[in-house]
Amino acid sequence: MIEETATHNNLHQVNPGLNELLRSLKMDKVFGRAQGDLIYSEGEVENEYLDFIGGYGANLLGHNHPALVETMTKALADQIPVHAQLSVRSKSATLASVLNKEMREPTGRSFVVMPVNSGTEAIELSLKHCLMTFNKRLHNFWERFEKRMSNIRSIISRSETPRLLAFDQDTFDNFDSFYSHISSLNERLIEKCSPLFLSAKKAFHGKTLGSLALTHRLKFRKAFGEQGPRVVFFENDLAHIEREMEKAQLPLLLPTINKSTGEISMKEETISTVAGLFLEPIQGEGGVHVLDGDFLRGVRDLTNRYRIPFVLDEIQCGFFRTGEFLASTHSGITGDLYTLGKSLGGSLVKIGAVLISEDLYDRDLGLLHSSTFAQDDLSSIVAVRAYGLAKEQSASIVEKGTYFMYQLQQLQRRYPNVIEEVRGKGLMLGVQFKKMEDKDSYLIRSLYMAGYLGYVLSAYLLNNHRIRVGITLSSDMTMRIQPSMNVTQVAMDKFIIALENLVNILDHEDYYQLIQFLLPEKARGLRKRPKRFHHDRILRISPTPEIPKVGFLCHCIDTDTFKAADPSLSVLDEDTIEQLLLKFLPVCEPTTLGETYVQSQNGDRVHLTMVGLPLTSRMCKEALKERKTDELVSICNRAVEYLKKEHQVSTVGLGQYTSIITNNGKNIVVPGVGVTTGNSLTTYMGLEAVCTQAEEKGLRLSEETVAVIGAAGNICSIYATYLANHTERLVLVGSNSLLGYRRARNTARFIYEWLFRDLMRRAEPPAEGLGRALSNTELFMSLQRNPAMIDDKKFDILNAIEHELGDASPIVVVKDLDIVKNCRVVVVATNADKPFLEPHHFSQDTIVCDLSVPTSCTEALIHNNKNIDVLLGGLVKLPKGEKIPAKGFSLQTGSAFACLSETLLLGLERWDGHYSYGAVSYQQVQDIGSTAAKHGFKMLAAKSMATL
Ligand code: PLP
Repeated sequence: MIEETATHNNLHQVNPGLNELLRSLKMDKVFGRAQGDLIYSEGEVENEYLDFIGGYGANLLGHNHPALVETMTKALADQIPVHAQLSVRSKSATLASVLNKEMREPTGRSFVVMPVNSGTEAIELSLKHCLMTFNKRLHNFWERFEKRMSNIRSIISRSETPRLLAFDQDTFDNFDSFYSHISSLNERLIEKCSPLFLSAKKAFHGKTLGSLALTHRLKFRKAFGEQGPRVVFFENDLAHIEREMEKAQLPLLLPTINKSTGEISMKEETISTVAGLFLEPIQGEGGVHVLDGDFLRGVRDLTNRYRIPFVLDEIQCGFFRTGEFLASTHSGITGDLYTLGKSLGGSLVKIGAVLISEDLYDRDLGLLHSSTFAQDDLSSIVAVRAYGLAKEQSASIVEKGTYFMYQLQQLQRRYPNVIEEVRGKGLMLGVQFKKMEDKDSYLIRSLYMAGYLGYVLSAYLLNNHRIRVGITLSSDMTMRIQPSMNVTQVAMDKFIIALENLVNILDHEDYYQLIQFLLPEKARGLRKRPKRFHHDRILRISPTPEIPKVGFLCHCIDTDTFKAADPSLSVLDEDTIEQLLLKFLPVCEPTTLGETYVQSQNGDRVHLTMVGLPLTSRMCKEALKERKTDELVSICNRAVEYLKKEHQVSTVGLGQYTSIITNNGKNIVVPGVGVTTGNSLTTYMGLEAVCTQAEEKGLRLSEETVAVIGAAGNICSIYATYLANHTERLVLVGSNSLLGYRRARNTARFIYEWLFRDLMRRAEPPAEGLGRALSNTELFMSLQRNPAMIDDKKFDILNAIEHELGDASPIVVVKDLDIVKNCRVVVVATNADKPFLEPHHFSQDTIVCDLSVPTSCTEALIHNNKNIDVLLGGLVKLPKGEKIPAKGFSLQTGSAFACLSETLLLGLERWDGHYSYGAVSYQQVQDIGSTAAKHGFKMLAAKSMATL
């Protein structure tokens, strides 16, 4: 394993976001020297890396080409002026003539060359030129319009007979009203259609605002509010482009008068609002797609026919990258404007250029556009020399590219399950990996969904083989391979061997081997040949539109869930896995675990998408304890957003810790989706379980003292409220902490208040439950005399009852579990991350109903020999017995968590809005219970369930 990471302390001051990503992937190397295709790490030991990122395609001449270094150092030694603005820049003129000479043959045209500093600036300048041309075209139209109108005016004014002017259904009795009507019709048309640009899907033209608007990937544009010129992205399909061009035709009105008859007629003059069409002959950042020659020729025909400037972006694929000076030459097309950049600077200087066909060039552009650093002698000198060197090598670029491509294609043939396609031309190559969205592994799938898996693959090659490659910016799973023109066969072969090693690991699905370099040193094993692992595929069902759709969020219970989905990681211990998950949390995305239909007993169906978050219960618990839940809340929101966007769900259920993390749903801020914690049905089903089991055991709840463990939480307090109706005495056990105890006392207050209000409404006291005992108290009599007392904020109902009844109070609040031994019915709903209730906490023959997920009961308690019935109450039997697709959660076929079932019921009921959101009410519990009965969802008190 190769260990070279940044040691600088001030990296947070420069692009901290990117540096953090690099650090998390161990890509934070520091390089101090580079030559050709090699780059050397900085530090005591200088290590050599093979560099095939190739400066994002700018490194055709390789790092520090000796001839260019010589040219540049000579220029500096000669003290050439770098800044000589407002003078004739002769070196840039030389560059222009060199480029023109080269362009003459393939295009047959002459070009005005405008040097700039970067690719994106070349695109900006092209946009500006297109807009100028467009505006001038409009201006010309208005000039002609005015001329025609003044001609009409003068003919009419000379006419002896007054004329009635007409257009369409309207008539005008004087010229002025005719004039203003027609010109406002034209103005309105023009106002409605601002200039439009056409750009291709998958296009990448840069990232400043104008060029960004032409760049297809929404991710790059969204954060900036999609500003800039109006752009329509077209499919690589001529019919689509033609439709767009046709739509953009402006039929303007141009009047004309017949001089002899004086008759006025109206001609439609169509002007295209398309100010320019931009296209890369090879879409580099979009995933190295070589556009088909017929298609390119078709686009040229269309742009000619509709008189639209055709801008060929050759910034990445031009300048001999494919052997030809222009990549578009391969298809025999010519553009009206060309943009160059990247390799034009010989891998040493920052220079781009726009080449505008002389017959179209607008001189005003050069007066209006300026850029301090553009057109300098140094860059021009280097570019001219770079041109000469690259041209000399053009044949060998083709040769090397052919060899490299052949080797990559062979690799693809050997690993068709891993490599989707190898694409490219010359030394602009791309390897597209297969999609990984259906891999069972949480880690791999989450990274894939987030678009970071390609970076992990690159980081693997960097750390294990000292090879630098990257992914294309708009296609996350395409590895870009852009060596220099001097690349050796040895280097290409070395790369193929390393890539095969990586591809072989992916083929074996041995993801441990893939991510090993990211682990702390002590957790790494020896690099071995990959073992073959079998991963199931995610079950997906495309829902029919009329069926309601819901989603459910869950996460790994513990690292075993994680390992069940990715057995290759079984060698890792709990801490290492959790550290790994934490490391990736900011970049990982929630992913689909599976999809299924669930049917009601009445035949109605709901479509369910289970979404998994790369978290364990312990991680959630830890974050809650440390009060560092921002990252977790953010991933929950991303999951809801994902379910809304990709699966069009109406309701999302918040499973496991996601409800606590999001403050019972209240921190979910995605509009248009209802959320539910599922707490209402969980409570209802738990109560059902207790009552049924008590009946089966011959226990009368009304004679029992019932303990509620976890009484500080919402579920337990509703529970306790319900049980208060059926039992004589309640013991509320808060957690050990003072806060937990206080909150349990609040639960007691809530129950007393609820019971007293109920008593005050009743004519007769109830036959059983705590209410019966309270109806004999003095406090009740006082409340009857003075009902307003109960609403008095200063009145403490709990203290009052404890004061009156002392030890005989019907609700007892305690901190520890000792008292539980005296209770034969115990309800548990804690958020402990691990089971902690043992058989010794309970007496013989007790009923324990545990609603916690993960369960609070240990295996020893579940399988006890003290005749303690452990009911894992948070479960429901589905009416038609479907299997819920959630690997690692030992959910038996036909069963579902109660909280999940609530989500399904809301879907079946086509519920609009939130349901169990924040604290749930007693009424909600009753209502969802009735809904469950209606659809045939029954309580499943699974005594034999393994740990959830
Ligand atoms: N156009 C194309 C085709 C590109 O590939 C790029 C960069 O990758 C650009 C424009 C933008 O160039 P720059 O990054 O120099 O601004």
